[in-house]
Amino acid sequence: MSHSVSPIGFLRSCFKEKFAIPRQPQLATAARGVLELVAPFDRAEAVEGLEQVSHVWLLFLFHQALEDKPRLKVRPPRLGGNASLGVFATRATHRPNGIGQSVVKLEKVEPGRLWLSGIDLLDGTPVLDIKPYVPYADGVPGAFNRIADAPPTPIDLTWSDEALQQARQHALRLGEPLIELIEQCLAQDPRPAYQVPEPERRYGVLLWDVQVRWHYPEPGRICVLEVVLG
Ligand code: SAM
Repeated sequence: MSHSVSPIGFLRSCFKEKFAIPRQPQLATAARGVLELVAPFDRAEAVEGLEQVSHVWLLFLFHQALEDKPRLKVRPPRLGGNASLGVFATRATHRPNGIGQSVVKLEKVEPGRLWLSGIDLLDGTPVLDIKPYVPYADGVPGAFNRIADAPPTPIDLTWSDEALQQARQHALRLGEPLIELIEQCLAQDPRPAYQVPEPERRYGVLLWDVQVRWHYPEPGRICVLEVVLG
């Protein structure tokens, strides 16, 4: 049996590339975006009642990780890319049907638009459905996951004076918590676990419309060097 689905909207997100997006929602509370609903869901009726809800589930397509041939095993980056696990034991993006799910905070609702925070989704992500979070049913007391039992331990982050100044100006211009966004995302150390970060090597990512550049003066410590228009 085959069944086709079509997006009910598309996300406008702070994350313009996959690199440096947190591995799960809620890890960067300053990560914000707007879900723009498409017709006929852009009408007031479709979101009536949502103002009574603090968080929603988004079901979406990993549109930049879709593959023709399904994988049975994946190598989650969280495990350093070495160990492989059954695809259904992980939240890997490469999966049958390419469907992702995230619980995100609903900041504001208006017809055709949902303002969200705590997101882990790429800009342009097609969203297939929205469901209200139901605390008594979705928060399971005593639940465990021995593969992913805690969020990544944050690493130390410092700023060059110039980068902090630049970030403050761009935060004001954008009207976004840019400094917190940079700190929350980089402290999770987006670098692939197998790379040894040489101090000379520069890393970069586009957040909103600014390019953020940093390096590792020593392993386990990030220094933000520059925050400039991308
Ligand atoms: N919370 C979701 C889940 O469990 O289904 C996503 C988890 S997945 C491990 C998170 C990663 O998906 C992010 O770090 C980002 O790199 C990637 N990602 C987010 N949106 C994507 C998209 N539209 N296409 C491909 N990859 C995406």
